[in-house]
Amino acid sequence: MEKYITGLSEQADIQIKSSDHGQTDIETVSQQHISVSFKDESQQQLIVEDLQSTNGTFVNGQRIKTRSILPSDQIKLGHKSIDTNWLFGQVKQKAKKHQIHFEEEFEAMKPDFDAFLKAREKVKSKSKRKTLYIRLGISFIPLLGLLYLFATGQTSSGLMYVFIVLSSVLTILTLMFQGGGTEQAEALDKLQAAYERKLACPKCGRSLATKSYAYWKERGTCTGSRCDAKFT
Ligand SMILES: [Zn+2]
Repeated sequence: MEKYITGLSEQADIQIKSSDHGQTDIETVSQQHISVSFKDESQQQLIVEDLQSTNGTFVNGQRIKTRSILPSDQIKLGHKSIDTNWLFGQVKQKAKKHQIHFEEEFEAMKPDFDAFLKAREKVKSKSKRKTLYIRLGISFIPLLGLLYLFATGQTSSGLMYVFIVLSSVLTILTLMFQGGGTEQAEALDKLQAAYERKLACPKCGRSLATKSYAYWKERGTCTGSRCDAKFT
């Protein structure tokens, strides 16, 4: 795993600044005090190596040369206590910058992609059905009128023509009618917002909810201009 130089130096990968840890004993930290790296991919333990610092490195009060530490361990650079969780967080951030392969993270998103697609189809088919019912309803009114005229033997009535013309006009009008356009768009936007956080590139956070799982699987990489994450 990648090693990160940690110390007071501005050139250090992880810089110890007094603003993060307070002024006390900051002068006992060397410019390049330790190197830190994750022990393995699980990121549960850090390997800390003292870089021949002036005042030494201490884990749980013991001076060390190289040691693996847990977030629960106490670490001191010289006399300076360093927040172990902070250190883990810093290494995590750095490690992410070097990470390119996100196949596992991407695969883990599949259930959310499926749920998103399903929910989207539901919204679309619901509004399609609604449009169909409205069309049928409107077209039926003049047809019922015609049926009434037939049933009562008024086939020569002038009303026949009115209903026939009305029927044609309404049919044409309803074909032009696309019901619930705004409603559907809003429902789809809401869905998108709800899934955007779940369906995001694990490296840069860019939303992947704009396309399907199949699309990203085929493309294999993030579309972020500065992101080199690989999904497959
Ligand atoms: Zn990305």
